[in-house]
Amino acid sequence: MANKRAASKESGLSDEALRHLVEGKSGVKAAKVISPADVETAEWVRLKCQFGCDGYGQCLVCPPFSPTPDQMCKVLDAYRRAILIHFDRDADTKATVAELEREIFLRGAWKAFGLGAGPCYFCETCALEEGRCRHAERARPAMEACGIDVYTTVRKAGFRLEVVRDRKQCPHYYGLILID
Ligand code: SF4
Repeated sequence: MANKRAASKESGLSDEALRHLVEGKSGVKAAKVISPADVETAEWVRLKCQFGCDGYGQCLVCPPFSPTPDQMCKVLDAYRRAILIHFDRDADTKATVAELEREIFLRGAWKAFGLGAGPCYFCETCALEEGRCRHAERARPAMEACGIDVYTTVRKAGFRLEVVRDRKQCPHYYGLILID
């Protein structure tokens, strides 16, 4: 877990205004403003991507191309505020996180950066060979792709998240936007 957070200037966006903006988006069930110090990163998260996910190495927003847990920990150190988002099952988490990142940026939070859930689906085949994303303005990595322990982070914030044991169970999707 990151243990030092840099001070930053206010974006002028209050916690309440931020929550209102995020919860007003289609597909968002709830959102909570949290401290990035409560975002848990761990080395083991990458093992779950590398040995268990079909998306590993298949797109530029997934490992091994996305930030390592150690790099992410340093990124988190540069923020003092984030918002954790609980999405509806059918929500377009990637697109919504990118849209919100832009709206929050335009309201003065110039460091805003969004993280979604799961691999990228914007192109039929990822531009791995070119090594450059075709939609860099909206393709964002998942929290887990950056070494974030999503279960611990989500539970710490007071949301419920259990292991999905079979396909009949409804999965829960979360996103995170680093604000300022
Ligand atoms: S937008 Fe396209 S090129 Fe970029 S990461 Fe996603 S699939 Fe790859």
